[in-house]
Amino acid sequence: MKDLIKKLTQTYSPSGRENEIRKIILEEVKDFIDGYEIDKLGNLIVWKKGRGGEKLLLDAHMDEIGVVATYIDDRGFIRIEPVGGISPYNLLGSTIFFPNVKGIVGIEGETQEELVKNVRELNFDKIFVDIGVKDREKTEELVPPGTFGVYYAPFIDLGERVVSKAMDDRIGCAIIIEVLKRTKPYHNLYATFSVQEEVGLVGASTVAFNIRPDVAIAVDVTSYSDTPKGNKRMSLVLGKGPAIKIKDSASISDRRVVDKLRNLAEKKNIPYQIEILLRGGTNAAVLQTTGEGIVSGTLSIPTRYVHSPHEMVDLNDVENAVKLLVSLAEEEGKLL
Ligand SMILES: [Zn+2]
Repeated sequence: MKDLIKKLTQTYSPSGRENEIRKIILEEVKDFIDGYEIDKLGNLIVWKKGRGGEKLLLDAHMDEIGVVATYIDDRGFIRIEPVGGISPYNLLGSTIFFPNVKGIVGIEGETQEELVKNVRELNFDKIFVDIGVKDREKTEELVPPGTFGVYYAPFIDLGERVVSKAMDDRIGCAIIIEVLKRTKPYHNLYATFSVQEEVGLVGASTVAFNIRPDVAIAVDVTSYSDTPKGNKRMSLVLGKGPAIKIKDSASISDRRVVDKLRNLAEKKNIPYQIEILLRGGTNAAVLQTTGEGIVSGTLSIPTRYVHSPHEMVDLNDVENAVKLLVSLAEEEGKLL
């Protein structure tokens, strides 16, 4: 799966610009599905018929956080605005990938005092991107205002753990692709690769409207607490299994979905952990309120340094998430 994860995470596709990743995902799954559709917002919806059963929807968002160029000064420096939850602290010193060129993020400061103050109170007014060009005209050719950029950061293979930009949520995409490849489902399996999650769960707000699934599960990253002085009110550990979400700040997983996933994991001897995320949310929040309402939950992958250029996951969690979802799709009988 490493190659797949590398390919997905290294693709440029910020929110609202998901063309490339959509093409790659479709290419990966096309021999393993019974049909697909690209809806009006750009969501990719694929399905695989079951032998009977109900409708199970798995969703992962395919966009990634990024920045957009807003203004170019006379010396060719670019000002930016966030696309999704990207912190200026993570941007400082990082490299930005624009489709035509790469640039380095720098910080303003005419005196040491000002520099220290700017670091302490960092915001988007204090930073700029430098693409190594000396004037406005040339920069405007390469990065006209309105151009979207993403982190430029390598895929790092650490053995059982891998690191890249955009694990959020290409790791969810990789898991669902793998489920589609491996399963002969009993239930009618729908997978949605949705757009613009990072700017407000946009794609997933409508993606399930026509499907009307019996159960929907968002597959996304979550936080961690197993680093020095990690959050003491959480217990998420990399490598201890995929996390069955109880709640986050946007939704409460349906109790029946939580119980189902837990029971299935125990029956199949798949390690799992329980997640209560203190801040953040997933597409489950809007899947839940689609149409007359959809029974929804989230399966999460504990991920270190979320929204930084170097998001780390443990491949054991990824593999166990695939196993759990394959079991869910294949188990005969009622979904709940
Ligand atoms: Zn995110």
